[in-house]
Amino acid sequence: MPSWRTLRSQVYERDKGICRDCGVALKGRWDCAHKTPRYQGGKDTLDNLKAKCPSCHLSETKAEAGHRSAGKKTTVATLHGQVVPRKKKRKWPSRKLPKRSDEWVRKIQERIEHGP
Ligand SMILES: [Zn+2]
Repeated sequence: MPSWRTLRSQVYERDKGICRDCGVALKGRWDCAHKTPRYQGGKDTLDNLKAKCPSCHLSETKAEAGHRSAGKKTTVATLHGQVVPRKKKRKWPSRKLPKRSDEWVRKIQERIEHGP
């Protein structure tokens, strides 16, 4: 398998130093983008790569990121095979336990220590 550097130069030569999306001539900085994204099973092969100007690549990457995070937000671990919408994190009320319950705990502890 050829190195990434080799692939990159092959892509650049094949695409004649032109952005495959908007047709602008690539000067200096350019990106080697996947046609089928890696997370969809795209491979690092000449067939699956294309030359892109940074702005085209950036917009596509943003779109992909949005797509992915949107999926994360709407789907949550299934509960009994049912997809449940993610709940917002809830802050537990920071009220102190009532005094009565302290007494109750003490009584229980006394019972444990001394018997009924
Ligand atoms: Zn472009």
